[in-house]
Amino acid sequence: MVRPSLSHIISACALAVLLVTAHPGALVAQPMEGCPPSKDIMARFDDFLNTGKMPPDLGRWIMDPRMQYIEPWKAFDNVYFVGVCWVSAWAIRTDDGVVLIDTLHEPHVGHLIANLGKAGITLSDIKYVIMTHGHFDHVGGASKLKPLLPNARFVMTKAGWDEAIETARASEATPRRWSMIASEITVKGGDAIRFGGNTFTVLETPGHTLGTASYVFDVKDGIGTYRAITIGGFGLNAVKDSKQVEAYIASVDRVRTLVKHAAQPVTVHLAMHPPTIGLMETREKLAVRKAGEPNVLINPEDLSKWLAELRVGAEQRLEIERKAGR
Ligand SMILES: [Zn+2]
Repeated sequence: MVRPSLSHIISACALAVLLVTAHPGALVAQPMEGCPPSKDIMARFDDFLNTGKMPPDLGRWIMDPRMQYIEPWKAFDNVYFVGVCWVSAWAIRTDDGVVLIDTLHEPHVGHLIANLGKAGITLSDIKYVIMTHGHFDHVGGASKLKPLLPNARFVMTKAGWDEAIETARASEATPRRWSMIASEITVKGGDAIRFGGNTFTVLETPGHTLGTASYVFDVKDGIGTYRAITIGGFGLNAVKDSKQVEAYIASVDRVRTLVKHAAQPVTVHLAMHPPTIGLMETREKLAVRKAGEPNVLINPEDLSKWLAELRVGAEQRLEIERKAGR
């Protein structure tokens, strides 16, 4: 897997929030076309981090369905990636229907639907849409998706619903306005959605936003079953004070505990921003996987290293926040 630096990870998530304040005068390096290698995408985020200004073409790239489209791919026997280049959406099959994680942003919902179809999933199969946090790139598609999913119920933490609805409302006066559905099912940490022979356990992981949640569930590969996590977001971009960073560190530690769990460790990370962990390159490895070879997504070592890096970065950020008296 490509292992991006911590600054990559932080700046990656920062983009989502700062799109609305993109600086029109920012210098453009190379226009982004299609879905380039993860390291190239993350290098562009470094530009953004260094200048503090969003390169306009990067902002356009994120929003442009033509640039963002990628074919769906099978990650596990019961899991398809159905998202776009920048943001993930995961479809998990169960015995009683499909659970979809996150909705993408509204301009990409057409591709999401096409990818579900290519993965053999009809819209009426989807019974739950579980959402990670209230940023537009993860839940901005809910309004468009909801009337198309006759059997689905939408799930998020209370703080997640609140921040989504509030952020959507705040976007109304901006060129990038989006809308959010009213809350449906509200979950809290420790809740378990038992459905179709799988269990989706909710882990509250505040830090990126206060409402950020992660979900733990089982994925299947041949005769093996593995514990996977979708981490809602670990960018520090929306941090307001040291308290939030402390919550972030506690969230990282909570996930680390799961990775170190003796009996049922989490060994698979199904990330919500593919370039942050080189997921598209992993996809290419899976595509040429031979019979008997392990699934490269089962990789607790990389997940542990990633979490350790996140923690180091958060400690540095905590110092900055405390020095600033925030
Ligand atoms: Zn976010």
